[in-house]
Amino acid sequence: MNANSDGGSTGRASTAGSVPAVRTAVVVGGGIAGLACALRLAEAGVKVTVLETRRKLGGRATSFTDPRTGEVLDNCQHVLMGCCTNLLDFYERLNVTDAIEWHSRVYWARPPHAPDVMQPGLLPAPAHFTESFATMRMLSLSAKRAVARAMWRMLRMGASGRAQWEGRTFNEFLLETKQPADVVTRFWSPVVVSACNLDVDEVSAAAAMQVFQEGFLANRQAPLMGLSKVPLVRLYDPAEGAIIAAGGEVRMGVSALSIAYDGARVTGVVTDEGVFSADVIISAVPADRLAKLLSATAIARDHRLQHLDEVGSSPILGVHLRFPRRVMELPHLVLPGRATQWLFAKDVDGAPVDADGSQHIHAVISGARDWMELTEQEIAQRVLADIRWALPAAQGVEPLAVRSVKEKRATFAIVPGFERIRPRAAVDGFDPHGGIRNLFLAGDWTRTGWPATMEGAVRSGYLAAGAVLGTRLLVPDLAPARLARMLGVAR
Ligand SMILES: Cc1cc2nc3c(=O)[nH]c(=O)nc-3n(C[C@H](O)[C@H](O)[C@H](O)COP(=O)(O)OP(=O)(O)OC[C@H]3O[C@@H](n4cnc5c(N)ncnc54)[C@H](O)[C@@H]3O)c2cc1C
Repeated sequence: MNANSDGGSTGRASTAGSVPAVRTAVVVGGGIAGLACALRLAEAGVKVTVLETRRKLGGRATSFTDPRTGEVLDNCQHVLMGCCTNLLDFYERLNVTDAIEWHSRVYWARPPHAPDVMQPGLLPAPAHFTESFATMRMLSLSAKRAVARAMWRMLRMGASGRAQWEGRTFNEFLLETKQPADVVTRFWSPVVVSACNLDVDEVSAAAAMQVFQEGFLANRQAPLMGLSKVPLVRLYDPAEGAIIAAGGEVRMGVSALSIAYDGARVTGVVTDEGVFSADVIISAVPADRLAKLLSATAIARDHRLQHLDEVGSSPILGVHLRFPRRVMELPHLVLPGRATQWLFAKDVDGAPVDADGSQHIHAVISGARDWMELTEQEIAQRVLADIRWALPAAQGVEPLAVRSVKEKRATFAIVPGFERIRPRAAVDGFDPHGGIRNLFLAGDWTRTGWPATMEGAVRSGYLAAGAVLGTRLLVPDLAPARLARMLGVAR
């Protein structure tokens, strides 16, 4: 077996252009991870079949037609960043890169005044936010000093220092760096909960630090914010054509019922449409689903599968509101210190309002556990209070329609210690405990080094495909800027 740095080994090494030793593969799950994995396998000449239980692709990054209005809505706004190198590679392969609009400015609401703006200035990374941060009025001078102190500490500790914090919460770091409570509420918390879907007192410190080290400090391209101009379904539907064009197959509306195991290898996926057999099987479903597909014997045989029931989740609430007229001028807005963290003005074909003059605003509440039992009316009331706080033009304006989307298991919970239970894509070639060598694992929750994101999902798919092929498929991270590197961010 060949060990490889992409997270495992296959013993089936192939070189680009040669016929791969693995001839057939079944991927269970047509979310981003499964699609990314299948595309790379198909491109390498593997005859791959994707099984997706739903009749659409994209998994949790999805759209639906609102039966009340007939409108195609996303389950929730999905944001990507400049540091999402693998996701961007996947978009290029799907030919959808043009659907992403990039924003370098982040607006922070400060009513009744104009919002503060955070944007890269002239200084090189890691100092690129210094100019705009210095002019932000929502934080006092002493608050800014406190933030700068914590940022400096994260910069200097680098990736290795961050790993030391893996078992602790980010709040412990904030306490250690003496962050005032209102700075936590108005600065750290909105950033962390939006990126990791857990608040500072629950999230793994290492995960939150990675957001600041790699997403803010390392490179001035990294914090660029990408928003899709089209519904999410139009980003991921093209994967079907791309996989078929590369020689694979996508079967939608087919549910995996179990993964057959003969005591040494997985032999096929049992579905409501028969058994799909293949040389290798790639699971690209969430951990709780995988636990249901495998027998207790199979789970007991593979150390990667010992912690499936320990993978927790955290909810996100997305709320679509249609106002009779334009109430929001900016493309997006952070609401510091409010329960609603972000507002997005949803353009229609590049125009801020619909043909009838109405405007679609999308509100996002991450880490939304307290909201899951609320009715749509209660949700609307709370979100409207936040919108009216942030947008003077919305005061006194009643929305024409409100549609809330509760995603109870939106993401895995990246709590302290989580990295230790995240499984690799493949069985380690030198693992004395053995394992199921032709079963590969993908999905945002597997060991990607990333929080639950579209980038994490693509990484997991590329890692699994790389492990099957015995080659490295991950796209390199953005290189840290020279000054950031000298100061230690990557060490
Ligand atoms: C509300 C919300 C907001 C988010 N916001 C962002 C954001 O702003 N930025 C960001 O980067 N990420 C965001 N994410 C996270 C991102 O959507 C996920 O990390 C990513 O989509 C996970 O992809 P995946 O392929 O690993 O898993 P999934 O999307 O869960 O894919 C698994 C697939 O397997 C299928 N499946 C399950 N069981 C079976 C079975 N038995 N047989 C066949 N198929 C099966 C499912 O239908 C699904 O399509 C958000 C997620 C949610 C829910």
